[in-house]
Amino acid sequence: MDTKMLIGSTFEAGTETEEKILNPKTGETILDLPEASLAQIDAAVDAAEKAFDTWSATTPAQRSAYLLQIADAIEKDAVGFATLESLNCGKPINAVLNDEIPAIVDCYRFFAGAIRSLHAPVAGEYLPGHTSMIRRDPVGIIGSIAPWNYPLMMMAWKLAPAIAGGNTVVFKPSEQTPLTALKMAKVMADILPEGVVNVVLGRGESTGNALINHPKINMLSITGDIATGKKVLAAAAKTVKRTHLELGGKAPVIVFDDADIDAVVAGIRAFGYYNAGQDCTAACRMYVADKIYDNVVADLASAVSTLKFNLADDTQNEIGPLISRRQRDRVESFVTRAAEHKHMEIVTGGKVSGDKGFFYEPTVIAGALQDDEIVRREVFGPVVSVTRFSESSDAVRWANDSDYGLASSVWTKDISRAMQTAAKLRYGCTWINTHFMLCNEMPHGGLKQSGYGKDMSVYALEDYTAVRHVMIAH
Ligand code: NAD
Repeated sequence: MDTKMLIGSTFEAGTETEEKILNPKTGETILDLPEASLAQIDAAVDAAEKAFDTWSATTPAQRSAYLLQIADAIEKDAVGFATLESLNCGKPINAVLNDEIPAIVDCYRFFAGAIRSLHAPVAGEYLPGHTSMIRRDPVGIIGSIAPWNYPLMMMAWKLAPAIAGGNTVVFKPSEQTPLTALKMAKVMADILPEGVVNVVLGRGESTGNALINHPKINMLSITGDIATGKKVLAAAAKTVKRTHLELGGKAPVIVFDDADIDAVVAGIRAFGYYNAGQDCTAACRMYVADKIYDNVVADLASAVSTLKFNLADDTQNEIGPLISRRQRDRVESFVTRAAEHKHMEIVTGGKVSGDKGFFYEPTVIAGALQDDEIVRREVFGPVVSVTRFSESSDAVRWANDSDYGLASSVWTKDISRAMQTAAKLRYGCTWINTHFMLCNEMPHGGLKQSGYGKDMSVYALEDYTAVRHVMIAH
């Protein structure tokens, strides 16, 4: 197993406090990993700075070739990466191998292509005697900070557009899930020039804090909690760093009375509970039309109760455990508080599961009202609330009545109603008759306190490059 950080071209162990890396399926310690010291963080930033001049002068075609090699290396060792990600996150191996790894490989391949065909206004004489042109140049050194829910995928979303754009990066994985980032460090060091990507370990308040306050870093890219995003913004203000913030969600799911109930139930069973609900786009907040409410609740409860988890044969598992005891206790406390209200009913699940690891039963809470905590706050676990509506306008108003603005979905057979509703929703993404589907060509990112900046798509390349105007007098 790779355990060393990548600083320039050297692999080093951290020299500070050790962090326990746990197997969420058993709660056992996999290994202890020491954090980076401030001197090591400085060395990583210096390595990125040293690499920048040469790397930023490479052509898009050259960078594209590097990205394609990275994609090939992950694809070739897909089982190795998937096994490690599954060990560190508790994800079912098949979910990583069949869903995540192909999307991660495709992310590097997408940006390898996209960087070669950026668009801008045409060069020309917009003032007589002067020719103007637009350049898209790298932003500089990027400090990149990832969460624990999709470690390898978040690394791809952050690194691929950054290095395709000609930037150099100091990357910090979550202190809970660093193992695949350390394996990727090996891949990066084998393929990329020294210092283009550096990987440092540590907690948010130590290594993360040092990165966001580092005077030489030009841009901060973070996926995490709203509270963390606010700290990043405050730190960025000191030296006016560019910021790219992906900060959680509480996705509303509006189900109109003409929706295909079987499709809704199958969709929420899959997309409300994928990754044990530890997903910022999880379909976790349903608003269901009065006429079909009882049927949807009954069918959903029975479908969700069949989700397979914690089976000895991991290939049979559909979902895994929560990432940590803390996260599981947090989920449990949300459900306990909801159960104290008489108007809500836990129609399936609602309990911690097993005596090993951090499993929680997939849960459906019916009868939730708009002001209930379970409707308003991000649980980040396998819990879906269902709220009844009789007026469509209420459903849209309640869906928008949230601090979050990342993802949403609308379920109806009436395409006009779907389009009118999609136009009113204030979310970075609205799916119609599905949820959660992502592709590298299309952007992912939020509105409101879910943050701003896009992952995936050419919009991410825009975020990781600076538009410059060059004018020639003649
Ligand atoms: P978190 O905010 O606690 O941590 C995210 C990362 O930020 C970690 O690497 C952590 O070490 C670092 N960090 C924490 N405090 C920091 C500080 N003061 N300075 C610098 N870095 C700091 O979030 P988490 O618990 O790891 O992840 C779950 C959260 O991420 C959820 O809220 C989820 O919705 C969100 N998320 C959002 C998206 C999205 O695309 N919008 C995707 C995945 C996860």
